[in-house]
Amino acid sequence: MSASHCPVRRPPRAAPAKTRLVALLDFDGTVAPDDPTDRLLERFARPEWRAVEAEWQAGRMTSRECMQRQAVMLRATPDQLDAEIGTIEIDPGIYGFVSLCHQRGVDIAIVSDGFDRVVRVVLERAGLSIPFFANTLEWQGANRWRLALPHARADCRSSAANCKCAHGALAGGCIVIGDGRSDFCMADRARFVIAKGTLAEFCCARGLAHASFRNFADATQRLAEWLDLNADRPVDAPASRRGVWPGLNGMSGREPGA
Ligand SMILES: [Mg+2]
Ligand SMILES: [Zn+2]
Repeated sequence: MSASHCPVRRPPRAAPAKTRLVALLDFDGTVAPDDPTDRLLERFARPEWRAVEAEWQAGRMTSRECMQRQAVMLRATPDQLDAEIGTIEIDPGIYGFVSLCHQRGVDIAIVSDGFDRVVRVVLERAGLSIPFFANTLEWQGANRWRLALPHARADCRSSAANCKCAHGALAGGCIVIGDGRSDFCMADRARFVIAKGTLAEFCCARGLAHASFRNFADATQRLAEWLDLNADRPVDAPASRRGVWPGLNGMSGREPGA
């Protein structure tokens, strides 16, 4: 997930033919603004989880290793874990975003480098039916857990637990909504990025077409504007014709509400 793992931008390659645009949503910090993974670790993991986190933050450990080591540090029964997950809030603007996507024929998927159990329980509780890809938290009996990585790839550019670059590459045309380092690689493949936090800084630095957002109400507006501007452009257009965005010349996109 570290930016330092992202190589210099390669020439754009032809995207695989696909007829529908896909919005790929990050979960921690984006759909669920309160960083649920950190919150669960804070509540249930041995304190050493912070040292592991620091190793990852410093770029000395892959997110793959970081996530697996942290999952093993959890000490919670399934009931305890689910009770805590039950308190996790989602951004209420997500409902409007989902409606817009349905109206405009845009598919949606959540791609998370966190725990699948968290995403599943939170979405069910919110009554949202959105396909998701996340790491598999496996109960080992009593209060022990381990993490399986069904979406890890040996050739992942960022050694992510869940290879978001692969999800971005699979989608013929994707729009990324996210906030952090785990989103850098898929943002690099996106037609348009709706970004906050370090992802917004990354997009500025790379000159990627993007707009900033604070919450999903903003993101919904930004997506609607972008779709209005780019509706007639083919989903699998080459990078030079991938889309326009008024803020791109200034490279920072438009501020929410601007
Ligand atoms: Mg995030
Ligand atoms: Zn990857």
